[in-house]
Amino acid sequence: MNMVQDFMPEMDLAETDLGLVWRNSFAQLGTDFYTALAPRPLNAPYWVGRSDAVAHELGLQPSWFESRDVLEAFSGNRAIAGTQPLASVYSGHQFGVWAGQLGDGRAHLLGETASGYEVQLKGSGLTPYSRMGDGRAVLRSSIREFLCSEAMHGLGIPTSRALCVIGSDEPVRREEIETAAVVTRAAPSFIRFGHFEHFSALEQTAQLKTLADYVVDRFYPACRESGKFAGNPYAALLELVSERTARLIAQWQAVGFCHGVMNTDNMSILGLTIDYGPFQFLDAFDPGHICNHSDHQGRYAYNKQPNIAYWNLYCLGRALLPLIGEQELALAALESYKTVFPAELGARMRAKLGLLDEQPADLALIESVFQLLASGRADYTIFWRRLSHWVAGQANADAPRNDDPVRDLFLDRAAVDTWLLQYLERLANTGYGIASGLMLKTNPKFVLRNHLGEQAIRLAKLKDFSGVHTLQRLLEAPFDEHPGFDSYADFPPDWASTIEISCSS
Ligand code: AMP
Ligand code: MG
Repeated sequence: MNMVQDFMPEMDLAETDLGLVWRNSFAQLGTDFYTALAPRPLNAPYWVGRSDAVAHELGLQPSWFESRDVLEAFSGNRAIAGTQPLASVYSGHQFGVWAGQLGDGRAHLLGETASGYEVQLKGSGLTPYSRMGDGRAVLRSSIREFLCSEAMHGLGIPTSRALCVIGSDEPVRREEIETAAVVTRAAPSFIRFGHFEHFSALEQTAQLKTLADYVVDRFYPACRESGKFAGNPYAALLELVSERTARLIAQWQAVGFCHGVMNTDNMSILGLTIDYGPFQFLDAFDPGHICNHSDHQGRYAYNKQPNIAYWNLYCLGRALLPLIGEQELALAALESYKTVFPAELGARMRAKLGLLDEQPADLALIESVFQLLASGRADYTIFWRRLSHWVAGQANADAPRNDDPVRDLFLDRAAVDTWLLQYLERLANTGYGIASGLMLKTNPKFVLRNHLGEQAIRLAKLKDFSGVHTLQRLLEAPFDEHPGFDSYADFPPDWASTIEISCSS
């Protein structure tokens, strides 16, 4: 009698190493989906950043990081028993143009831990999908990905997580010589729209179906039950992915996040924010802001993101068409984006305004605050945080009313005064105390502004990682006041506008 099987009939017999039990369900899809290969070793690795919170998600204690074996394993220098490292193949549309085959050109999926998270190394060396690349990632972009993953999680926005960043003095050539780093990422799945586009473009319908069934069975089992699409689970999948994507983009817009490279290969089938590259949190509110210096046409400007997400979903729909069968069903599934996105954005904006209920005039109020912010180029994060404190101040009838912190953000004082009056009227039946309570949990004090990341990176290049650690701590709890750290919540310095973040990473 096998005791383990008797007690845990559902569990595969997987090996344990470094305190982690691994499964490799993606690997079981078959070799059409990936190339099995080990990460490349990284010379003389050192810790740059580690997340105790992500370690905890994986079922590990913070002390786990103290092991030299862990450092060696997650830099690619030591095999981890039970893992089956692989690079997956996908294709995609880049900047609106079909790019053909792409794939994990510098990432290795190690497998999936018992916690349900897949674990992936990024920057871990050449793969068959590296094309012209060197398989590496630089310290600069790795720190940005690490910090932003955890910042987004802190903001409550769906995202891949980052367990750690490991650096090395190994030189890497970009515009100038930089050094290499490896980020360990974790997500329930790293499957992208581009994985589906790949098999669809090759007319490999059997593989397309294998992939879709895998995603449905693991992540969207309700698709098999839904009556809406007459038992068509693939149309139901497209609808659920459209809804999740709509909710994700609404959160991006509400917090002022620009992704920068919304190519279809960077779109998660689970509606997560993935592949942090030239992203930016808005400083001054400019609806047409382009954060990626490689994006000359502004395809991925802040205010284009909602439409681009729909365009990407349309590509996914086209890719799934051989499974869905009828074009009408695919189009009907995509329709959900058009209702969920505005509804979700409205809900997010009402929360930013501290409104607990929904009234018809709210749309105009939201529209007018965006206009006010745009014409005044007011700092987006500071405006919302100051507004939250201003509403909290209204709750205290004894204190003299002071509009200055909000008014001072605008040159056109008359415009802001008019808007504040309208807003106060609307707030009256919510109650200022309740409204400001909601606002202070919705409007963050701290976001990963470019200049903050840049300062931490400059220090890290000198092997001082204190800037990374401080930012990580603030961004993990971005709604807390963190006394003594107000400078991290201040306006960007003038030099921030000269920072150029491109696809180079
Ligand atoms: P990204 O825009 O970073 O999402 O990358 C687009 C594609 O280029 C993906 O297939 C990446 O794996 C690949 N890629 C990006 N940088 C590199 C690199 N340095 N080496 C190999 N492949 C890369
Ligand atoms: Mg990518």
